[in-house]
Amino acid sequence: MKIRVLGAYGAEGLGQRPTSFLVNDRILIDAGTVGGALTLPEQSQIEHALITHSHLDHVAGLAFLAETLAFAETRSPLTVASLEPVVNALRVGVFNNMAWPDFAQIPAEAPVMKYRTLVEEAEQRVGDTWVTPVAVNHAVPTSGFIVHDGSTGFLFSGDTGPTDALWKAARGLRGLRAAFVECAFPNRMADLAAVAGHLTPELLRREIDKLPADLPVWIYHVKPQFYDEIAGELARIDAARLTILEQDKTYTI
Ligand SMILES: [Zn+2]
Ligand SMILES: [Zn+2]
Repeated sequence: MKIRVLGAYGAEGLGQRPTSFLVNDRILIDAGTVGGALTLPEQSQIEHALITHSHLDHVAGLAFLAETLAFAETRSPLTVASLEPVVNALRVGVFNNMAWPDFAQIPAEAPVMKYRTLVEEAEQRVGDTWVTPVAVNHAVPTSGFIVHDGSTGFLFSGDTGPTDALWKAARGLRGLRAAFVECAFPNRMADLAAVAGHLTPELLRREIDKLPADLPVWIYHVKPQFYDEIAGELARIDAARLTILEQDKTYTI
């Protein structure tokens, strides 16, 4: 599988885009940014968007992608998929004709996007992959995902504080190559991380103890203003095992 980092961060900064990954050119995992990282033809190829939750740093790019696709001469139908409370939040809170038009109804003859509610903790076909959504612990309903193509796979944590279900669901899975795990705040902001449902490097250290010891951990969702501080704290935990993902780079597993 090819995983391209469209946005590696937990917010927007100069040249730093919010969370978004593109799997095999066709499947988005989160959509904090899309048009800021892809050409129009690349955007038109996207068929699925797996959305972890409704926060803007994960969906702002989906709003603009929908509008871009509405004007595109050729496009694939875009299926926006997640657990039921996340799909509801997108309908009610984002594509509600207030914050943004309801592109599940526009244009009437062939709407740009449709919603798909995924079954929790069940493996289901999404494009050329198998996806298992697992609820994690964040300030709003949020799903992590296990993505597998039959031979290799990876975990994607979503925004989350300490959790168990996702790591448990992946236990024993063959071909697991990496865990994408969020880390938003430095250790001194542990109180905020607890309230907001995020990880600090110290909390992350305890999470990765729940994962297979040889599984690489790829970090994303660092808040831009704390990047250097967080990178320093992560390097002191396990520099060999932890990698902070680089924006615009494609990782192959
Ligand atoms: Zn976020
Ligand atoms: Zn969030």
